[in-house]
Amino acid sequence: MKVFKFGGASVKDAEGVKNLSQVLTTTGEKDLVVVVSAMGKMTNAFEQVVTNYFDTKSEVPSALNEIVYFHHTILKELFTSVKHPVFLKVNQLITELSQLLDKNKSKQHPFVYDQVVPYGELISTCIVSAYLQEIGIENTFLDARDCIITDTKYRDANVQWDETQQRISGVVKKKGITVTQGFIASENTHNFTTTLGREGSDYTAAIFGYCLNADAVTIWKDVPGVLNADPRYFNKTTLLHHISYKEAIELAFYGASVIHPKTLQPLQRKEIPLYVKSFYNPTAAGTCVGKGVTLDPLISCFILKTNQVLISLSSLDFSFMMENHIGDVFRWLHEYKMKVELIQNSAISFTVCVDNKYDTLAPLLSKLRATFKVKWNEGVTLYTIRHASPSEIKKLEANKMVLIRQENRDTVQLVVKA
Ligand code: ADP
Ligand code: ASP
Ligand code: MG
Repeated sequence: MKVFKFGGASVKDAEGVKNLSQVLTTTGEKDLVVVVSAMGKMTNAFEQVVTNYFDTKSEVPSALNEIVYFHHTILKELFTSVKHPVFLKVNQLITELSQLLDKNKSKQHPFVYDQVVPYGELISTCIVSAYLQEIGIENTFLDARDCIITDTKYRDANVQWDETQQRISGVVKKKGITVTQGFIASENTHNFTTTLGREGSDYTAAIFGYCLNADAVTIWKDVPGVLNADPRYFNKTTLLHHISYKEAIELAFYGASVIHPKTLQPLQRKEIPLYVKSFYNPTAAGTCVGKGVTLDPLISCFILKTNQVLISLSSLDFSFMMENHIGDVFRWLHEYKMKVELIQNSAISFTVCVDNKYDTLAPLLSKLRATFKVKWNEGVTLYTIRHASPSEIKKLEANKMVLIRQENRDTVQLVVKA
């Protein structure tokens, strides 16, 4: 059996859902777990509901109405009769969410986030499953929360593998087609919903792939496969036909956002190949991540992360930056969920480039200022270049204000002022 994952871009409208069914028909796979994300930009829309819930409660109903309108538009294009039971099911999910918001007493943002945002995936899979059924593609709807079990680190939960393995083995049929949600899971003390982090549906596909010993996992994207650079920022890109697990982990870790970084490790452990393919062109080969050569073709890869923060610390009294200081810094970075992208230190200063993904810069800075002299630059861009020649680096650096340059055998990193 295989695992297919369809992201938000693949189901952004009714055409997308029809295309998903075409991909299933074209590939002819009969034994599949189909993991689906929230439709289009719906995760952002649900995040807005959470923001309104905490900041301007009166705007929650209008944010919810937009979500209802978006899904109803898709439903009306996919199903000829509004009497189809899927309309009722989607309405029930929305009612359930409104009631949950009315009853909620928790003031913990990450907890509330994880109770609200997963409705994007619950609604999308409800629609996709019903549509496939309607056109004769028999499938079983699975609530991923019954299978993927995590701790209670809301918004970035850690999978409890033994429990998850047991549940998946017990519940998921290896024959036929199962439709389930990406990104969402549950913790097993109170059964509250948890999430695996933004863009986490690729990871869900890998979890199912691992636990079911799948023959392959395919993630269907709006690009021909993994390219040597993000086509949003680079005009000329080349498709990578093959990437080793190790190289793919490096690329994803440095921010090649086409694959969620956690996806590769479980697949590598069982040597399950990961295919990245275009949902516009399902018969094309795309990229295979698996055993074998590092990169085919062996060319330089460019990864760009915008909106990073460069923080430089030095001691208040000119004393050395020693392990004890640096230990504290890392503890706080971890506490404020700042992902460290680059580190540089000298005798009296310590510099990190971090991703302020959870908007925790202000509290982190106030903590750091109590112990260090702090300088910082917001909105910097981090370039990571793998396997590049000196002339390519030079070309990239031209006309840019490079704040930090770091180089090791295969990787050059540049922090550039925007
Ligand atoms: P999904 O619909 O599964 O959420 P994503 O939007 O997360 O898909 O991933 C696809 C996008 O990743 C592409 O549209 C592209 O802009 C971006 N991307 C970034 N780096 C790369 C790369 N090296 N190769 C291909 N796409 C890339
Ligand atoms: N819907 C979630 C997100 O947009 C998960 C995913 O798409 O991978 O982050
Ligand atoms: Mg995505």
